Amino acid sequence: MIDCVKDSRKMVPVGEYVPDKGHKSVSFYIEGLNPGDSSFAEVRLERDESVYCKTCNKLLNLKTGEIIPICCGKMMEVVD
Ligand SMILES: [Zn+2]
Repeated sequence: MIDCVKDSRKMVPVGEYVPDKGHKSVSFYIEGLNPGDSSFAEVRLERDESVYCKTCNKLLNLKTGEIIPICCGKMMEVVD
């Protein structure tokens, strides 16, 4: 992480004049994302958990910070 900070400081010009007309706004669009479909939101685990797909009975063991995967078109459920 320390190396990363050093590198990013090197990349940023400090006190350098940047003409306004050189500025371009950059927008990112995620294609295929339906904002009304919350079932595809990224949910990260706060601890090691097992997740389960009710549809195909698949069971996965995931670690802290991993995203709960989508299986059979649905987000897998955390097993207690
Ligand atoms: Zn499944």
